[in-house]
Amino acid sequence: MTTDQDLIIIGAGGAGLSAAQYGARGNLRTLVLEELAPGGQALLIDTLENYPGFPDAVSGFDFTQKMEEQAKKFGAKVENMSVTSLRKEDGIFVVETDRGPITSLAVILATGAKHRTVGVPGEEEFSGKGVSYCATCDGPFFKGKRMLVVGGGDAACDEATYLSHLADSILMIHRRDRFRAQKAVGARVLANPKITVRFNTELRRIEGEKVVRKVRLVNNLTGKEGEEELAAVFVFIGSDPQTQLVKGMNLTLDDGGYIETNQRMETLVPGLYAVGDVRASPFRQLVVAAGEGGVAAHAAGQYIDEMRGEGYFVDRDFGDQHSKAVAVAR
Ligand code: NAP
Repeated sequence: MTTDQDLIIIGAGGAGLSAAQYGARGNLRTLVLEELAPGGQALLIDTLENYPGFPDAVSGFDFTQKMEEQAKKFGAKVENMSVTSLRKEDGIFVVETDRGPITSLAVILATGAKHRTVGVPGEEEFSGKGVSYCATCDGPFFKGKRMLVVGGGDAACDEATYLSHLADSILMIHRRDRFRAQKAVGARVLANPKITVRFNTELRRIEGEKVVRKVRLVNNLTGKEGEEELAAVFVFIGSDPQTQLVKGMNLTLDDGGYIETNQRMETLVPGLYAVGDVRASPFRQLVVAAGEGGVAAHAAGQYIDEMRGEGYFVDRDFGDQHSKAVAVAR
């Protein structure tokens, strides 16, 4: 079978770049397609302090730049292209891009997830004028000013901590009575004298003239509403998986719409893998995404060998239903 590439990876975040490195180092002609800057959501991480091997912490930007450099060193190509559709025809993947179609034997989907919005009045109007979804990008604009953080997960807690280095008064609200974040991360926020946490509190509206001036909040237990004057609203309430490219395909998704795979990152479409934030995973971390990228590239290499009649025995019986379904799909 003649194709343009052996392996195409869609998305150049931590998972995609790791897959690229493993794919290229495994001698696959590997192409990564990214419509924005390589790095993905990791670019938003100001201080990456929990990636093993980096005791002094590193910025998400520096870290993913090194990942890209390493993947390229082994021969992977990283191209700035927008993928418009994906299909499988006669055993070959056709990736349609804004610069025309590219074919490959296997595809790794590493398209990640996109931040959610709260959907309250004023959020869209003041987006970029005080409403932000990236503390590292926009926090410095509000140095010394009072800011609001919305959310109760790891991202909200991490970003509130980051913002507390820029200002003395950070108000944080979460709709439940406790954090969803990892215990240690939440505990650090609660112990931070610059951050005031209000649980059971929701954002009702954002107001201002030209820029954000105040917010209206409600206590969801008592129904009591109140106003707070502040300069910025940072929203970290999770994200939605980017699965548009595989909408028509026979893949299994979890309740949140994330793609389910087996332990080899195989989807129900032979030769198609899903890794990183687009994949159903109990723990979304850069180190997990990087590991998934490596596993998928390895599995893709074995799949390609099989297609070429150069395969070696691979035991696919992991005991889980998805693995069995994948084996049947093949
Ligand atoms: P997340 O874990 O899904 O948390 C989202 C938070 O936003 C939840 O507390 C949720 O409340 C709240 N929320 C959702 N919709 C809301 C709405 N409409 N209004 C108000 N609040 C809303 O998302 P995340 O914090 O972005 O993290 C995503 C993944 O990345 C997680 O797996 C996380 O562990 C990982 N991550 C890890 C780190 C780290 O290790 N340092 C840093 C960042 C992210 P409920 O709890 O009520 O649902």
